[in-house]
Amino acid sequence: MIKKTDEQISIPMVVDVPFEFAAGQYLTRALTELRDNGRFYGVKCPKCGRVQLPPRIVCAECLVRNEEWVELGLEGTLKAFTIMYLPLNDPTTGKPHNPPFVYGSVQLDEATSVLDHLVNIEPDMDKIWVGMRCRIVLRPQEERIGDLSDILYFQPLPGQKKPEQN
Ligand SMILES: [Zn+2]
Repeated sequence: MIKKTDEQISIPMVVDVPFEFAAGQYLTRALTELRDNGRFYGVKCPKCGRVQLPPRIVCAECLVRNEEWVELGLEGTLKAFTIMYLPLNDPTTGKPHNPPFVYGSVQLDEATSVLDHLVNIEPDMDKIWVGMRCRIVLRPQEERIGDLSDILYFQPLPGQKKPEQN
């Protein structure tokens, strides 16, 4: 006879859920330009003038359709950063980034929003600062697949000096 019990047994399980979604009209156009020509495009809101990257069909602030495409350069300004002391698996490649490393938000010139990615710099607070100028370094064209993993990292421009603290 089977005995009744209140015990609850948990069974550990790892669930693998491969997933992909349609990038949509605007993101597909932008990622195709990135993959094929190494160029970044944002879209400009006709009402507030902000330039969104990645491009979105509608400005979330004004709720109007973005029609104007703006080519952005590869250079921008570091707006925020963190030094990571925990390992992080890249969501697009699954490969780990070994700590410590620097992760930052760079606002490309002409853009209003930022891109978040690795910053190729020694993780030393004396050598990195908000306001630092950076340039995007891409994979070689033949290795690009049309997603943000085509960006290898932000490379700080040479010859910059950290501003004195007040
Ligand atoms: Zn707007």
